[in-house]
Parts: sequence; C-alpha cells; structure tokens
Amino acid sequence: MTAPAAIFLDKDGTLLDDVPYNVDPDAMRLAPGAREALSIFAALAVPIFVISNQSGVARGRFPIESLNGVEARLHELFAECGATLSAVYWCPHDATGTVEPYNQECDCRKPMPGMLLRAAREHGVVLADCWFVGDILDDIEAGRRAGCRTILIDNGNETVWRGGALREPHVVATDMFRAALAIRAMDKRVSAREIAR
Ligand SMILES: [Mg+2]
Ligand SMILES: [Zn+2]
Repeated sequence: MTAPAAIFLDKDGTLLDDVPYNVDPDAMRLAPGAREALSIFAALAVPIFVISNQSGVARGRFPIESLNGVEARLHELFAECGATLSAVYWCPHDATGTVEPYNQECDCRKPMPGMLLRAAREHGVVLADCWFVGDILDDIEAGRRAGCRTILIDNGNETVWRGGALREPHVVATDMFRAALAIRAMDKRVSAREIAR
C-alpha cells in the first residue's frame, strides 16, 4: 500500500462541526470521526491541507485577521491527534459581498478549484494522486475540476443536490473516519483518471 500524494479537507461540516461564520477558536470542534481520521492520515505520513471558503470576510461578518486564530487552533487540533497540518488555504471572496477588496469574482471560491491548484503548485503535489474530502457537492466539483479524487461526507449538509458529471463523488462516506478508511485502502497508483466514472 502506498500513501496518496496529499489529502485536502474542507473545514466546515467536514473536519469540524459546522458553526456558521464561527471564528472563535474555543467553539471549534472536530466533526464525528475526524479525530480517528487524522490519526489514520498521520500514520500514512501524507501532507494534509485545509481548503475553505470564508465568504464571511467579503460579507462583513468578521475581519480577515480573525482567520489567524482559526488557523492556529486548527494546527493545535491536528497536533492533538498526532497529525501535522501542512497549510490552510482560505477563499475570503464573495462577489455579492460588501467588503472591498474581497467582494469580487475569483477563481478560488469552491466550486472553482483555485485553492487546490495553488496548494499543489506551492507544495509540489500531483493532484491526480490527491484526495479532496468535503460535505457538499461544491467541494466535489472543486476537487474534480482540479483533477483530484473526491469523497463526499454524506452527513445531511448537502441539501440542493444539483447534479452533473463534475459533481459526482468518487466515493461516498458517512463520516470522516470512513473516508479515511477508504483513502487508506486505495493505492496512489490508481489515479483519478483510472477510476473516473
Ligand atoms: Mg463544508
Ligand atoms: Zn476566492
């Protein structure tokens, strides 16, 4: 068995319990199965990235500096599970927002793949050998647009189910622990191209 090149995780509703617009580090809780998943990822010795839309910046719900405390707490939560968080990528944009310069169209707000492409470029990982785990189909689309393998945590957070070839997850799991088991079971030589449906 060979580890994947990297694992990308959505934050809200995937890695953490979803608390809308939360930037209080003390209110950040690992989602069901996430602690076990991070332990499995740590054993795989694979880089882990958090990839998160934070439109609350553009919408004026919190200043961008608030995300520094969130990022610091993420590093602590990983460490508590024996894992290392390699980097966090935020999209602070929303074209319908009110706060400049964040109220603009961008290529990083999921379902666009910009954060994944940037992480791959900055850390030299091959996207076809990576996994992206998220709780809504916009995550799946971002992952597929980037050429990653994708896992949907089907925990009730997706409510719209707008379909399409780019929104079809490679794997569906009920929680992070089962997603981690699926990742561990897959050999990295099975690329997204080979298992794409
Ligand atoms: Mg989410
Ligand atoms: Zn963006």
